Amino acid sequence: MTALPLVFDAPRRGMPPRHLADLTREEARAAVTELGQPAFRADQLARHFYRGVTDPALMTDLPAAARQDLTEALLPGLLTVVRHQTADNGRTRKTLWRLHDGALVESVLMRYPDRATVCISSQAGCGMACPFCATGQSGLTRNLSAAEIIGQAVAAAAAMANGELDGGPGRLSNVVFMGMGEPLANYARVRKTLDALLTPAPHGLGLSQRAVTVSTVGLVPAIRRLTDEGRNVTLAVSLHAPDDELRDTLVPINTRWKVGEVIDAADAYARKTGRRYSVEYALIRDVNDQPFRADLLGTLLAGRLAHVNLIPLNPTPGSPWDASPLPAQREFVARLRAAGVATTVRDTRGQDIDGACGQLAAADRVEGVPAVALPTPQLEPPVPLGDEADQADGA
Ligand code: SAH
Repeated sequence: MTALPLVFDAPRRGMPPRHLADLTREEARAAVTELGQPAFRADQLARHFYRGVTDPALMTDLPAAARQDLTEALLPGLLTVVRHQTADNGRTRKTLWRLHDGALVESVLMRYPDRATVCISSQAGCGMACPFCATGQSGLTRNLSAAEIIGQAVAAAAAMANGELDGGPGRLSNVVFMGMGEPLANYARVRKTLDALLTPAPHGLGLSQRAVTVSTVGLVPAIRRLTDEGRNVTLAVSLHAPDDELRDTLVPINTRWKVGEVIDAADAYARKTGRRYSVEYALIRDVNDQPFRADLLGTLLAGRLAHVNLIPLNPTPGSPWDASPLPAQREFVARLRAAGVATTVRDTRGQDIDGACGQLAAADRVEGVPAVALPTPQLEPPVPLGDEADQADGA
């Protein structure tokens, strides 16, 4: 397996202290032993962590005298809530987290009638520079550690269990890597996170593979590595244009890996896992929403194990672009379906709290959290196109 190019090696500065969730089970047992405790305490700590228990006083199965030492050494608090913002009648909640070095990241928890999905961040900022994405404008601050990524999912699971979202207690069912950052540019830590999400309690959250979605700009060597490693999570590829000429401008990494190479890698993933991949396509008025581009996309994807998830563009500060008007959206959907390509339109949860796709931009506010949220240009909310308006998590 070839190593990933160094260009994806984000700065290591600012990485947080060691945490149980960064360690393998053997490493955790060794760390506990070094503290003079029996190795099984590592399993007890893991059970508390994945249940979202953070207060040592509640860890009554640990000897009182050892609680402080054990939690300080292995469960340091890595994520501090700066604020929660809710939308969609209390069923969407965006959380702004401060990390130990002051970096800020966001995650968004969304409750639906049949599931609850958390959208998590894998990096503070992002180095991929897609011009329509707010996170892409701030550049990359640093990779998150595995524990910082896992912690966002654990917090969401606890929030659901505790009934913090409207609708009473529930269960976190889905995780999507569609928050800040490019998950496959932080490969090793994201892979660790996948293990934690999929491993049953007490050493993980016990989610099903199909309920976890990794979304990528198309880092081809990393998609191939994920394919070889056999973690059969759902893959989503941010295509946004069927032709290299336009994609070079919308997803700049396309100058390195072309549309054809990305689709080949996604196809190989689908063959290996037997699972359809999602093609994400933000519909941008007069930029990529022309009927001829729908036809090109239809031709590109017909007969493949793929489905298209259209995302009417969410507005971002300072961008001249906006969402395609409804008739253009409808035409785009119709042409794709006529080509035999399964197509859905994603709903845009959390738009009014800057919590929708591409609106997460906390990293450029590291120096101090503004008293009010950044202004969001007002757009008409997208009108559902019938049965397909339910694809917030691309699953
Ligand atoms: N870096 C990963 C995850 C990022 S966000 C990736 O690019 O796939 C998840 C999705 O939101 C991506 O498809 C991204 O292109 C899309 N997105 C970004 N900005 C957006 C915006 N302003 N409106 C709609 N979708 C956007």
